Amino acid sequence: VKSLGLYIHIPFCGSRCPYCDFAFVVRKTHLAGRYIAAVVRELGTRLAEIDGPPVFGTVYFGGGTPSEISLEHLGQILDEARIRGTITADAEVTAEANPGDREAFGELRGLGVNRLSLGAQALDDGVLKALGRRHRTEDVDAAVAAARSAGFANLSLDLIFGAPSQSLGGWGHTLDRAIRLEPEHLSVYGLTVEPGTAFARRGAKGRLPLPDEDAQAAMYETAIDRLEQAGYRQYEISSFARPGFGSRHNVDCWSGRPYLGVGASAHSFTEGCRSWNLADLGAYMDQVEAGGSAVAGSERLSRDGRLLEQVMLGLRQRSGVSEGLLVSEGIRERLGLLLSRQLLERMDGKVRLTRKGLLVADLVCAQLVGGL
Ligand code: SF4
Repeated sequence: VKSLGLYIHIPFCGSRCPYCDFAFVVRKTHLAGRYIAAVVRELGTRLAEIDGPPVFGTVYFGGGTPSEISLEHLGQILDEARIRGTITADAEVTAEANPGDREAFGELRGLGVNRLSLGAQALDDGVLKALGRRHRTEDVDAAVAAARSAGFANLSLDLIFGAPSQSLGGWGHTLDRAIRLEPEHLSVYGLTVEPGTAFARRGAKGRLPLPDEDAQAAMYETAIDRLEQAGYRQYEISSFARPGFGSRHNVDCWSGRPYLGVGASAHSFTEGCRSWNLADLGAYMDQVEAGGSAVAGSERLSRDGRLLEQVMLGLRQRSGVSEGLLVSEGIRERLGLLLSRQLLERMDGKVRLTRKGLLVADLVCAQLVGGL
């Protein structure tokens, strides 16, 4: 028996958000039936390659926007997972959803989805508009109410800070409003301008008035303070939860437990090997329909590579990384330096980022593993 997390990528979106560089397509939901048939086929093939019937303790529909397509399709994937293995009775089954798709929530719950991750992004109409989102603040309020009445007892909201023209005060209001909605979980991300996006093009023309680095840092610290005061525990750089409501799926992935990802661009980690699927929707479907593998590449990590990864993933989590992993001479030296600069701290045999370190987490991680 093999215990696995299952990730399913649903690449359809209703519109293109100007900051997004995920794998998605817009106005293509007519392809959903064909795509899902390919995903079901891929799931069957991949599971047949694994020794023993798998047991899924977590399932995660991500995207894209899973709530964009007919929900029967998501049901077909869950059926296939149940035919080929077992989804445990207490499995965490998450779907990402747009606040505007709330009429689908009852059906999602009926399929066995028990955790909803709402792409709220902001609770401020000006910021939502600046982010190119189609929904309004009132849609988020209505979506939370709809999710509760559909029976969801585990709700997460995604929020973005550092949006164009966003003020620290405005961000504080968004946080307060989010807290009043009483979700069990919040994911809080700083906006990053990714190459190739509409925001990158606007930025190159000087038409993207983003808060500067100090303002972004202040927004992040405000999030940590307000959410902790409201009873949320920060358990990862971007993740906050009421006790017992951390995302099991994500924590398992960060802790190096195996997961299978199916669908275009999905990543997997099975039997010590990382692999990633073709990202292009058409190429993915053609390949699976022709009976081929959707895997575009894979790598088996060396012992050192694995260690490096464990350190990086461990440091993202507030529980930290076991000091026993940090043994090589170079790393001990760099650890000493980062401890003395109060960017890292020791706690119960582990090493973790300090509050100051959290603000420059990527730099500290890179420095510790010798990447800088
Ligand atoms: S809905 Fe999500 S995945 Fe789709 S374009 Fe917007 S941010 Fe990207």
